[in-house]
Amino acid sequence: MLKGKTALVTGSTSGIGLGIAMALARQGANIVLNGFGDVDGPRAQVLAAGSASDVRVAYHGADMSKPAEIEDMLKYAASQFGRVDILVNNAGIQHVASVQDFPAEKWDAIIAINLTSAFHTSRLALPGMLAAGWGRIINVASVHGLVGSAQKSAYVAAKHGIVGLTKVTALETATTGVTCNAICPGWVLTPLVQKQVDAKAAEHGLSNEDAKKLLLGEKEPSMQFTTPEELGELAVFFCSPAANNVRGVAWNMDGGWTAQ
Ligand code: NAD
Repeated sequence: MLKGKTALVTGSTSGIGLGIAMALARQGANIVLNGFGDVDGPRAQVLAAGSASDVRVAYHGADMSKPAEIEDMLKYAASQFGRVDILVNNAGIQHVASVQDFPAEKWDAIIAINLTSAFHTSRLALPGMLAAGWGRIINVASVHGLVGSAQKSAYVAAKHGIVGLTKVTALETATTGVTCNAICPGWVLTPLVQKQVDAKAAEHGLSNEDAKKLLLGEKEPSMQFTTPEELGELAVFFCSPAANNVRGVAWNMDGGWTAQ
């Protein structure tokens, strides 16, 4: 379905971003990976997912808190594949503390990486998408773009912000072949969440399994983690012709979290 298209997925060396990159590669899209840590493993996984369509995989290590590096990454993507057709703004970090104890530099980093980076990638990718008459911007927000949780001020502010950015981008492109939508996952068992499981295990003297149950039980009625594979298929839907007129939604995949 996506053969000949190019997808740039920020923060795709791990977790949800990697799951989305693999799902888009399975549909034939060439992929530009981004993120920290090991690159060879994720690159091999995405190449394997796209092997039936001979997808090509490139990588740029831009730090998403640095606008100049983001600009360089978009130029690199254009030099490799012509342009970015599908932009997935996924890179994100978390820090947990009450407002009065929240380190100012953590606040700045979360707003920069989880929110401002999506403004920069979007403003740089939109001209090419509009000129081509087709494009998809998918912002990985969170249930925390829809509701709050204590101890997560910067994250909740950034995620509510990206849901707002999604709506405005969708309105400004509403008469074009470019769409913009947000995905709002509940708990997904990635390194970002395992840290929170570990903190619960330490705080309550629990096993890893019991700490997971405690975490899920507080918020997620299904008592199940959403998976990167499931989120990848939602991203594929947003890229499909059936979603041509899906614009500005914040689609939760959260085991009932926000239905409460
Ligand atoms: P993760 O820690 O597994 O992956 C985060 C990715 O972002 C990694 O590839 C990492 O290298 C990259 N990254 C971090 N800082 C970066 C930076 N400055 N520049 C470039 N890349 C950077 O986390 P995840 O759980 O897969 O999270 C992905 C997105 O999904 C985040 O935006 C997160 O807020 C969101 N999300 C996660 C959950 C969850 O339960 N895990 C729920 C809702 C939303």
